[in-house]
Order: sequence, then structure tokens, then C-alpha cells
Amino acid sequence: MKKILITGAAGFLGSHLCDRFVSEGFHVIGMDNFITGDETNIIHLYNSSNFELIDHDVTEFIKIEGELDYILHFASPASPIDYLKIPIQTLKVGSLGTHNLLGLAKAKKARILIASTSEVYGDPLVHPQSEEYYGNVSTIGPRGVYDEAKRFQESITMAYHRFHGLDTRIARIFNTYGSRMRLNDGRVIPAFMGQALRGEDLTVFGTGEQTRSFCYVDDQIEGIYRLLFSDYHYPVNIGNPNEISILDFAKEIIKLTQTSQKIIFKDLPIDDPLQRQPDISLAKNLLDWEPKTGRAEGMQKTFNYFKNLSKEELYKRDHKDFASHIKK
Ligand code: NAD
Ligand code: UDP
Repeated sequence: MKKILITGAAGFLGSHLCDRFVSEGFHVIGMDNFITGDETNIIHLYNSSNFELIDHDVTEFIKIEGELDYILHFASPASPIDYLKIPIQTLKVGSLGTHNLLGLAKAKKARILIASTSEVYGDPLVHPQSEEYYGNVSTIGPRGVYDEAKRFQESITMAYHRFHGLDTRIARIFNTYGSRMRLNDGRVIPAFMGQALRGEDLTVFGTGEQTRSFCYVDDQIEGIYRLLFSDYHYPVNIGNPNEISILDFAKEIIKLTQTSQKIIFKDLPIDDPLQRQPDISLAKNLLDWEPKTGRAEGMQKTFNYFKNLSKEELYKRDHKDFASHIKK
């Protein structure tokens, strides 16, 4: 039985990856320090003898007994609100954490895939963004803690590949959504869904002309799965190219949730990218992959998920407090 370590296992994408790899017959070791994630996302796997969970901060030395075949490094705050609250942890998990995981992969002769992001393109001057584009990132802006950690993560991963011959993969993930997101993580989809469920007005930042392209979680997991088993070492965009402005998106959410909220406008956060759309030609050719779930279907599934949560669970997902994790 092949063994895989998944970091960020209690988070949104990490927990879906744990599900997928357990169901594919792998022995999964999940690792998380729960700073932005939640045990509820993986508790259903505790009955499986093929799943174990280690409570550990990946920025500290990582010890795994026995053999390891694969590593998926998904630990990192991922929403602008989260990484603004915990900027140093964000920088550390992308840099020190990645270094530890690359060292572990080298020691175990394991293949490692790291979760990079469309944020390496920053506020892009090229549209749509293909893997050749070098990006337009402010090193010192508030988002720099995430963007630059991810850019460093890609560089050190390529260095381990070139210098040590490590078997590496890099997924550049574009905005992904679905069940198990935190309602209060600040990302636009849980933000709008939470507002719809609470009967509050929807907050559009800026004029709402900025665009995003949203990928449903099942499509994202399939793309990552295929990338891991490809033989390509350079970055690959994984996302859905269907682009929409945030204002139109807010209108779609009002229709979908059949609520009668107003849209209100708030300041655009600093360095908020004005447009984002993945060019997925490489993933199509290399992985024979493209997203299958349209926005209407994916959003309906996601809204149903939030709607069907118990009151307690909904409250918990809306009130995550990571103060206890913050070391001054
Ligand atoms: P998430 O916040 O739901 O999950 C991240 C998980 O990592 C959490 O469970 C958190 O507790 C854990 N974690 C953070 N720091 C840690 C540390 N030092 N040690 C151990 N565990 C730690 O976020 P997500 O949306 O699931 O994102 C997962 C990964 O995918 C991240 O690396 C993120 O940068 C990347 N990504 C996600 C998206 C997206 O749209 N969801 C887009 C681009 C990139
Ligand atoms: N946004 C918004 N209202 C909200 C939350 C986000 O208008 O309540 C906007 C945000 O300014 C950005 C887009 O939605 O332009 C996507 O934001 P998100 O935080 O989901 O991810 P990003 O792609 O910026 O990392």
C-alpha cells in the first residue's frame, strides 16, 4: 500500500485530498496544526485504518516513521483575511515549512507536489495568465507575505529538483470553492454565502469590476491528482477559465439563494488583483484535464452544503478564532 503525507489536512483542499487518496486505496497521513483548518473536516476519516492524523506545525522539524511514497504540501493560510491576520506564520509555512517538506521528501525518496497559487502572477499585466508569465507582485504590500512565500516555495522546489534530483510537481491553483470552506475566512464565496444565509447585504469591494474565475473543488482535486501522477516538473495552472466580474457574481448569488439582499460597496483592499483567468492549455494537453462543473451547478452544491449544516456547525464555521495559535 502506497503511503502519502498530506499537509493542511484539516483545511478545505487538504481534507478533500485526504478523502480522495483514502478512497483510492492509499495510506494517508494527514498533518495539520489547525491554525485555519478544522478537525470536523476530517473527523469522518478517523474510522478508516488507512488514515492517521498528526497535529504538527510543519515549520518545525517533521519526523515520519518508515517509508513514504508521496507528499502533498497544502498547509498554508489561503485567504487574504487569514494571511493578513497571521502574516509571519504565512511566510514561515511557505518558506521554512516547504524547506522541511522538501528535506523529508529527499530523505524518504518521495515524490512531492506543492500547492502554489495564481497569486504568483500578482496583479497580472497579461491576460489570461499562462505559466510563462513571470507576474507582477508587490514584495512589500499586505498580500506580499503570501505571494512572495509562494514564489519562494516554487524557487526552492525547483532548486531541490535541479540540485538533488528530487521528484517534484508544482500546482498553480486558481480560486477554488466548495464544501468545508470557513464562512468567515473572508474569501468572496463563503463571504457572500454567509451574508445570504444571515440575510445581510452582500459586500462588493471596489466597483466590483475586478474579475475572478472560480473552480469547483471536485475539478480541482482531479487536476491535482492527475498532476501528481504526471511526469512534469514545471508549474501547471489548475483552475476554471470561466471568468466573471465580482459585481455580476454578487448578482448571481442573490438569484441562486433567492434572497432579496442589496449589494453594498466597500473599499477595494490594497493590491487586490483586477483580473484573473487561468490559461489551462498546458493542463489540458499534459493531463487531459479540464473542469467539468459549471458555476451554477457548483455554487448550488456549495450553497446546499452550507444550508444543511447544523446551527452549531454553521456558527463554528463563522467564528473561527485563531488567537490561541498566534505566538507574539
Ligand atoms: P485552508 O486554510 O482551508 O487550509 C490550510 C490548512 O493548512 C489548514 O487546515 C491550516 O490549519 C493548515 N496549516 C496552516 N499552517 C500550518 C502549519 N504551519 N503547519 C501545519 N498546518 C498548517 O486553505 P485551502 O483553501 O485549503 O488552501 C490549501 C492550500 O492550497 C494552501 O497552500 C493554499 O495556498 C493553496 N491554494 C488554495 C486556493 C483556493 O482557492 N482554495 C487557491 C490557491 C492556492
Ligand atoms: N471580495 C468582495 N467582497 C467580499 C470578499 C471579497 O468583493 O466580501 C472581492 C475581493 O476584493 C476580490 C474578489 O472578491 O476582488 C476575490 O476575493 P477572495 O478573497 O475570494 O480571493 P482573491 O482572489 O482576492 O485571493
